[in-house]
Amino acid sequence: MIARKFTSATSQSLRVCVVGSGPAGFYTAEKMLKAHEGAEVDIIDRLPTPFGLVRSGVAPDHPETKIVINQFSRVAHNERCSFFGNVSLGSSISLSELRQIYHVVVLAYGAESDRVLGIKGEELKGVHSAREFVWWYNGHPDFSNMTLDLKNTDTAIVLGQGNVALDVARILLRSPTELATTDIASHALDALRESSIRKVYLVGRRGPVQAACTAKELREILAIKDLNINIKEADLVKTSADEEEMKNNRIRKRVFELLSKASSTSGQTSGQRELDFTFFRKPDKFLESDHRNGYVGGVHFEKTTLKGNGDSGYQIATGTGEYEDIKCGLVLKSIGYKSIPVDGLPFDHSKGVVPNIKGRVISSYDVSEAEDGLYVCGWLKRGPTGIIATNLYDAEETVASIYEDVSKIELTSRKPGREGLLELLESKKIKFFTFDDWKKIDFEEKRVGSLKGKPREKLTTWKDLLQVK
Ligand code: NAP
Repeated sequence: MIARKFTSATSQSLRVCVVGSGPAGFYTAEKMLKAHEGAEVDIIDRLPTPFGLVRSGVAPDHPETKIVINQFSRVAHNERCSFFGNVSLGSSISLSELRQIYHVVVLAYGAESDRVLGIKGEELKGVHSAREFVWWYNGHPDFSNMTLDLKNTDTAIVLGQGNVALDVARILLRSPTELATTDIASHALDALRESSIRKVYLVGRRGPVQAACTAKELREILAIKDLNINIKEADLVKTSADEEEMKNNRIRKRVFELLSKASSTSGQTSGQRELDFTFFRKPDKFLESDHRNGYVGGVHFEKTTLKGNGDSGYQIATGTGEYEDIKCGLVLKSIGYKSIPVDGLPFDHSKGVVPNIKGRVISSYDVSEAEDGLYVCGWLKRGPTGIIATNLYDAEETVASIYEDVSKIELTSRKPGREGLLELLESKKIKFFTFDDWKKIDFEEKRVGSLKGKPREKLTTWKDLLQVK
């Protein structure tokens, strides 16, 4: 925890810009405002709406996770903090422009792309990333027009067994009547009401001991009413390496116990929907449907076995040369998110993160040097892992680095900060959204939602959002 407050050596305020208004951005702003009495913090976001992943990523049936929005709103109301929505780093404003205007720039814009498998057939219609599906049901304006066919098949395959995979499988399998009282986008609710999908395969390339989900989320999907759960007993046989992994990891142990318990009641429910946990299968290629040209009709999997990876205890999936096809009409790839670099930003393409030491961006020219006044936080800093609260600790670390460096930052060299940003946005004719503009959107969404028994009815298109201003 940063208990100390620090003030600048001169009367010039410390001008800080945080890029991204998700959890990492808001926690950084909050810590920055607390730590530095003279800091003025501007948060920019490419969307007109704030809160990033809390609005576009958290599942609609997890309202308790969204309560953190109240805390973030209090930060936005701080007189030293301003929100600038509809301002996109890269297209509205460049990184070098931001660095000229502000003493400190913290990049916290997350991971807005996906890892790819790089296998044959990935471009077939009906193969989507889980992120696209999540953005679609959460009313993200980039995906409100997504063509998603839920009516031509009864089977979906979800690749990956992390919490995002569980989220998307749950949304596919849960009763739409239950979802109707959430803030799910209305286009998604309508499509799910008409969906013919009855069976979902959740496929992991490794075993039940390595399933990447957490116990709470697993318990939730296993508790869906009238859902048949299929887990093969044979997949639950543990090796000594598995035992070792479980001994060192309480979550893995709990997840395995839950899967074992669910397997013992496998096939005992007479529900109309089915969830199949499929282990030890890695996707080899996507198969084209034999009756719909250009559409996916299944996945060709290679069976796997686990091999130890040195002393790390991490077991990797290796192919056995045996294959199996599973038919389906929809695939959601839930194998991890990926950050996108912007011009002028050092970027590690293999890891998909900005090289940094405790949030300080490492120079691309000299790895022993940090970039002046440039920091990262959140998924862009550490990769796409962790829960919302993980960003709180992450922001603490980045702000602590800023604290250490601030004495070296030339506060005597005038930086226009907010004034400069406003000038630039005006000269580029960018129609930015303030937090008050967001409050208008918020009010309208809640008003329409209350008429339908929902917490809010999201505005889901760019046109509708931009019209509010
Ligand atoms: P994740 O937890 O990293 O899971 C990724 C999954 O994809 C793993 O099962 C992984 O298997 C698999 N995978 C990766 N590359 C693959 C490949 N080439 N072929 C086949 N499978 C592959 O990522 P996530 O589910 O996207 O979640 C991101 C973060 O958000 C996580 O920390 C998660 O806990 C968090 N989250 C939390 C909640 C919640 O708290 N309710 C909800 C959503 C997300 P291997 O293990 O074999 O690599």
